[in-house]
Amino acid sequence: MQAKYWTYREMWDELRRLEAAHPNLMDVEVIGQSREGRDIAAVTLTNQATGAPAHKSAVFVDANIHAGEVSANSVAMYWISWCLAHYGEDTQATALLDQHTVYLVPRIALDGAELYLTTPARFRSSPHLYPYTEPREGFVADDVNGDGHILQMRVPAVDGGYAIDEVDPRVMRPRRPGEMGGQYYHVFEEGRIDRLAKTGELPEFAKAHPARRATMDFNRNFPIRWAGESGQPGAGPYPLSEPELRSLADFIHQHPNIAAYAALHTSGGVILRQPSTGDDTVLSQTDRHLFSRVAEMGARVSGYFAGSNYEKFATGHEKVLMPGAADDWLYDHFGILGFTVEIWDLCRRAGARGYGEFGVRHLMRLSPEERTEDERKLYAWATREGGPDAVFPWTPFEHPDFGFVEIGGLNPKFLVQNPPLHLLEEECANVSAFLTGLGLSTPQLIIPSIRVVQTAPGVFRVVAEVSNAGFLPTSSTDKGRELSLCGVCAAIEGDVEVIAGESPTTIGQLDGYGSSSMWIPPGEQRGYVEWVVRGEPGTRVDVVFEGARAGRVAQTIVLDATMDAQDA
Ligand SMILES: [Zn+2]
Repeated sequence: MQAKYWTYREMWDELRRLEAAHPNLMDVEVIGQSREGRDIAAVTLTNQATGAPAHKSAVFVDANIHAGEVSANSVAMYWISWCLAHYGEDTQATALLDQHTVYLVPRIALDGAELYLTTPARFRSSPHLYPYTEPREGFVADDVNGDGHILQMRVPAVDGGYAIDEVDPRVMRPRRPGEMGGQYYHVFEEGRIDRLAKTGELPEFAKAHPARRATMDFNRNFPIRWAGESGQPGAGPYPLSEPELRSLADFIHQHPNIAAYAALHTSGGVILRQPSTGDDTVLSQTDRHLFSRVAEMGARVSGYFAGSNYEKFATGHEKVLMPGAADDWLYDHFGILGFTVEIWDLCRRAGARGYGEFGVRHLMRLSPEERTEDERKLYAWATREGGPDAVFPWTPFEHPDFGFVEIGGLNPKFLVQNPPLHLLEEECANVSAFLTGLGLSTPQLIIPSIRVVQTAPGVFRVVAEVSNAGFLPTSSTDKGRELSLCGVCAAIEGDVEVIAGESPTTIGQLDGYGSSSMWIPPGEQRGYVEWVVRGEPGTRVDVVFEGARAGRVAQTIVLDATMDAQDA
């Protein structure tokens, strides 16, 4: 398994190479194009010999919907390799691909990620102009000193809000109320004023308003509580306006066997679950139980923190928490148990306070002194453990707009937003363990027993039992049950006439073992079907159980006149 940051070409070459090496386990298809015309890859992993992908319950994983979150793509690529390399050796990998299907879209923000990896630029999702169709005048982030990075600038100024920290001079601390007599600075992102109009000689600082270009946020563009640009910056002109997301939404809709979902992001070192709209009481008791148990499993195998979107992100100030986000859409509109995994936690490594552990609401209460304390820890850790290029010392530069400035700070891409390369593999392995566990939690139909009894010459009673041996219910969640998906169906296929009972017939949704309780017998986890059929003795017929999210299980039986009962 290779843990690396993949460019577009490298990623496609690797996917094609793996597909060629494992034709019975892996399939890669193009499901659409990015705005700039790059092919969006979707990967299917399953053992074709044990059943078609659509006949197994599936986990769906997407990654790198935010352009700069390239380690999410690294995790997806690593997990694909892990599944393939360990199939037949590792019991989990083998069970996952024999009994389930894995669908992955390893990179959604193809255009933005490519620029992120090959230039100093950073984008939220896409480099196309948004929300304005023409570039606007103002401050734009840029690598003004040409060192290949867009860092921070500190600009000496009497009205500056920052001072050099007395403990660690690399840290800039907020200037205290009423503080005077020192050297103060403006501190902001490395960049310049882009002048488009014939504005003459105007003061630079007064023109330094962000030009707001390329601020599209793909994970605010899903059709769930969508808020528009005025309610949620980056939301896009209308839900699913972006070609990348339209392709993704179509893919999800075309694969009704998806029973679990994970969206891979950075950073925070946390597995985020539902709900987003309030505390856990907004979920049904069953869904609260399913979400928290799977999230806790994830925390245990990955070493990450776990909690709900609401618990980690809500500040109390928002009207709607993160409108238009994928995990909410998959739960609210499809009833799919889904998670957002935030890879990499610099704060935790450094012993500082991060939202993954404490939540944003708690971090908001930190005093400026406490924040500065944490900032020092980040610098200290980055110097010790961050590898080369983790910390850039403040370096003087004669800026065309702002005069004397110093440029420096922490590496924004491969320290703050993503792990430095030497720590990437650890994150990939940890998150892969969760994804494997999530895939193995999806529903799985088994046939515990079939009885065939001849009741008259050429007339047989067939009683077949089905169970969901997976953790999740066949509807994935309680919400899925409410959305009235069809449940498990039973059919008898072959050269027989059904004279009592119906084929196909509906059994309904079945609980998984995750819904079981010591107080309630497991009647909801199993179902059965009974038919009386007429057929030639010796005829082979198939008993088939199938559910949209539960997959398909079949067993061949023989209408045997010599046997009174045949136990499977
Ligand atoms: Zn993200």
